[in-house]
Amino acid sequence: AMAVGSEEIRVSETSGSLPTSIDSVINLDHGDPTMYEKFWREAGDAARLIIPGSQTMSYFSDVTNLCWFLEPEFAAEIRRLHRLVGNAVADKDSYIIVGTGSSQLFQAALYALSTSPEVAGRGGAWPLPVVASAPYYSSYPAATDLLQSGLFRWAGDAVTFKDGREPYIEVVCSPSNPDGFLKTESVASGNGMVIHDLAYYWPQYTAITNPADHDIMLFTASKCTGHAGMRLGWAIVRDRDVARRMIKFIEISTIGVSKDSQLRATKILKTVSDRYEVETTEESAKLFHFGRKTMRDRWRRLQAAVAASNVFSLPIFQPDYCNFMKETTLPFPAFAWLKCEHADIEDCESFLRQKYKILTRGGMHFGADAKHVRVSMLDRDGTFDMFIERLSSIEL
Ligand code: PMP
Repeated sequence: AMAVGSEEIRVSETSGSLPTSIDSVINLDHGDPTMYEKFWREAGDAARLIIPGSQTMSYFSDVTNLCWFLEPEFAAEIRRLHRLVGNAVADKDSYIIVGTGSSQLFQAALYALSTSPEVAGRGGAWPLPVVASAPYYSSYPAATDLLQSGLFRWAGDAVTFKDGREPYIEVVCSPSNPDGFLKTESVASGNGMVIHDLAYYWPQYTAITNPADHDIMLFTASKCTGHAGMRLGWAIVRDRDVARRMIKFIEISTIGVSKDSQLRATKILKTVSDRYEVETTEESAKLFHFGRKTMRDRWRRLQAAVAASNVFSLPIFQPDYCNFMKETTLPFPAFAWLKCEHADIEDCESFLRQKYKILTRGGMHFGADAKHVRVSMLDRDGTFDMFIERLSSIEL
């Protein structure tokens, strides 16, 4: 009864707080990316932005662009960053659409795909099923069914989804929230329309093996630079009509996207890319190097704590060559998909919460079992340190 708010956020009195004492609640329920505050604090003035009162007043950004509320400088920095990192094809003939978080773009994509004129011709019946292979991000079912739309309806695990002959929508989140593995479409049928959620396809979390090149790709500042509060995401879309309908969704729901946020995001992305273009930049001042080093250190400590316990286990990952980092690397996912291996513990989320005041997200939210929990790896250093300390004290 402590948590209120939406499926993903579940705001509670400990959300965003720092545990200060040995018996504080440690809240690792949401993926709040406060780990990155340290990096941006050190960046200081380099990423500061001042907006005069007379600026960003109009609804419009660029009426010559299909996405008329997209700031052109922001689009340019997005394309530049993808070119630098090599994680997605974002050339000039793809459409970039900005959204209030990638959360809005997910809904825009559902709207755009389910209203495709081809659906009826291909024997589709509304509401179109929306599936994802389990374990899937807990917001997908929540966001899909929030308005009980006549256009689309959550249909659960893609792996057990049977009637794959009629049009349906599959969301592929790779690397996956919650378990960190790379994913591809799982329903082997030509009638699937796929939304690729690439929120975590950045070098701090996984090897960048090739530039992703899909029909609809979603990205977010939240997990790339850590600016979740800016509420900015972007979609890279191949098809003009799909792009047009996604833009219409945003036009009708929020008449565009905050220009202040877009200007700030432009500055943030520019700071990231600029630093990679200057040879003398120290590694600690390079965002992906900072992120990767922090994540690697955290995963090593978590793995050591789990190995020393007789209670938990973690997924086993394979290394891959990262074209951006120019080295072979293991994944360091933004979440740990922790499993309680102990026979006496059926509900790992309750066990950690009731006995140890560690708040996590139980497996049931992701279409999985209660033996699993999802733990955020992106909190501040102090919180993570306390988490490891407390986890290490668990003995059964
Ligand atoms: N997709 C995935 C897989 C996520 O984990 C998140 C954030 N938790 C989002 C989308 C939404 O991100 P935002 O709305 O902050 O851009």
